[in-house]
Amino acid sequence: MMEQIKILIDLQEIMSRVRVLDADKRRVPLEVADLKGLFEEREAKFLATQKEFEQLKKDRRDKEREIEEERDKVEHAKAKLMSIKTNKEYYAMLKEIEQTKRANTQREDELLAILARYEDAEKRLAEFQAEVDDVGGRYRERMVDIEARMGSFDKDIAVLDEKKAEVVKRLDKGLARRFEMIFDRRDGVAVVPARNQSCTGCHMHISPQLFNLLQRDDRIHTCPNCNRILFYEAPVEEASGK
Ligand SMILES: [Zn+2]
Repeated sequence: MMEQIKILIDLQEIMSRVRVLDADKRRVPLEVADLKGLFEEREAKFLATQKEFEQLKKDRRDKEREIEEERDKVEHAKAKLMSIKTNKEYYAMLKEIEQTKRANTQREDELLAILARYEDAEKRLAEFQAEVDDVGGRYRERMVDIEARMGSFDKDIAVLDEKKAEVVKRLDKGLARRFEMIFDRRDGVAVVPARNQSCTGCHMHISPQLFNLLQRDDRIHTCPNCNRILFYEAPVEEASGK
């Protein structure tokens, strides 16, 4: 068999192993896809609750400040009462104080409602935090293992890539390029034997002319149908007879 064909067969073997490792490596993260999904769902719930909690915190502060300001107004008005000279003014002021107090009672009710929601959100936030920590911990633990396994695939692939570079060096540059193109387009099978006057890559019949050329084994030929590089393979009984 031609030396270049032998090298191509070696190259195909190496590249096929890289392909398998690549595919296996890509499947590794799928093992934690469920856990990742769960983690992201819990995290989203936690973040939404955190946002709600922060808003309630702000509402609570605003409401408390409002009540405080209105209380100050009442105190101020009460102090002013002492200095009022006429009855009319006095009663007007009393009326205003009463109105402010009533409005503040309303605000205090609102504050109580906010406080109830605030405490509820605070409780939920703590629960979700615990869930996120739990799922997140398990997820990170699995990821350490996943990354280690992916790293080991990378190491094996790097070794094969080095081997591949060595093998490619021994090939004619144009042929190497052509081989890689066919390899990518033909699903990792770029060099195939011709058997029983057929291409074993696409199973198309090969003309007797081309078959004869292949048997001479002195030049690179490709299948006219699938473009794979062909080489002659003697029938089994003929080969074993030798
Ligand atoms: Zn073919």
